[in-house]
Amino acid sequence: MKVFVTGGAGYIGSHTILELLKLEYDVVAVDNFVNSKPEAIKRVKELAGCDFSFYEMNVCDDWQLDELFTKHKIDCVIHFAGLKAVGESVTKPLEYYENNLNSTMVLCETMKKHNVKNIIFSSSATVYSTENEMPLTERSRIGGCTNPYGWTKFMCEQILRDTANANEGWSVALLRYFNPIGAHESGKIGEDPQNIPNNIMPYIAQVAVGRLPYLSVFGDDYDTPDGTGVRDYIHVVDLARGHVAAIEYLNSHTGANIFNLGTGKGTSVLELVSAFEDATGVEISRKIAPRRPGDIAVCYTSTENTKKELDWETEKTVFQACADTWKWQKNNPHGYDSISRSHEDIRINSKSSS
Ligand code: NAD
Ligand code: UDP
Repeated sequence: MKVFVTGGAGYIGSHTILELLKLEYDVVAVDNFVNSKPEAIKRVKELAGCDFSFYEMNVCDDWQLDELFTKHKIDCVIHFAGLKAVGESVTKPLEYYENNLNSTMVLCETMKKHNVKNIIFSSSATVYSTENEMPLTERSRIGGCTNPYGWTKFMCEQILRDTANANEGWSVALLRYFNPIGAHESGKIGEDPQNIPNNIMPYIAQVAVGRLPYLSVFGDDYDTPDGTGVRDYIHVVDLARGHVAAIEYLNSHTGANIFNLGTGKGTSVLELVSAFEDATGVEISRKIAPRRPGDIAVCYTSTENTKKELDWETEKTVFQACADTWKWQKNNPHGYDSISRSHEDIRINSKSSS
């Protein structure tokens, strides 16, 4: 079976390609490296011990995409490509709507032309309204997004639902990710933010490796056991395997189907910091800071639907995710740029040596 992966050099795409190759899926991937490095593709090939077709390409380029679909007989598409920085989407909304919506529409048009009917889309828990009770289920209310990035996910979901309704035989999986963290256990691939990280795990990892001085804990006065925000952190390898489960599901189901990919467990900011310290022996300096605008206190998912429908559930713990993140960050202090910057000094705040 041939799977076409967009955004294959990115954090989740690279881990998913590796899982697909391990299971002997035939992979064709593209990326324009707007938020990633070619080195990621090289490392996936090394880890998998096999080759796959990769093209540097913008998914919004209908001509190039058409050529690719003519050359490769695609069975299923996984659409990871997209811009994902929440804060940046507020200052550059048009870039986000242009890239995220256009890539999805061009992809759907090309699929239609080439009679490809199966697509998995990277959506996000951010599409849920902040008014819902926890845990979130696939039937929880959506909308009322607080930033353009969230709206692009909301709108792409709608585009895909409408396309599935209008075209017989189409199978769409809208995967709403909770909080992906961690890295492949080899420490060879991982999350490599190009700027100061927005998300907590890469931020902690960069504090640990000495690139950032301390973690700002955004709020300690939420209505949660320790006052800090609670999220559902899912190991990226579990998440990657969720895509494999979705491919299998699409083979026997049509229409648009929604799945929440998370662990079903909430972890607070301070619990995450402690887990990281325990897993690595590295102390994380932190300061309590004001709440971040737009943040909610608690967000986690029910796993009932994915267990039943996808026969999938997470296996890895937050502790393992911290250990794997550290292996990646310690071995690659500057991410995929580390080889060219290996002369630069990195200071690690080891708990045991202090
Ligand atoms: P990422 O930025 O690491 O990966 C996305 C990849 O897409 C990058 O390699 C980027 O260069 C590429 N890309 C962007 N626009 C492109 C285009 N027009 N043509 C070709 N390539 C393009 O992000 P990620 O964390 O791997 O996320 C993958 C997907 O999952 C994204 O759509 C993201 O919005 C979604 N998502 C991520 C998270 C998260 O916390 N990481 C949570 C929910 C949803
Ligand atoms: N967070 C934090 N400091 C940071 C980044 C995030 O305290 O530097 C908190 C944030 O307030 C939230 C949790 O960590 O409670 C997860 O935030 P992240 O941005 O990783 O994910 P999301 O907001 O999308 O759930």
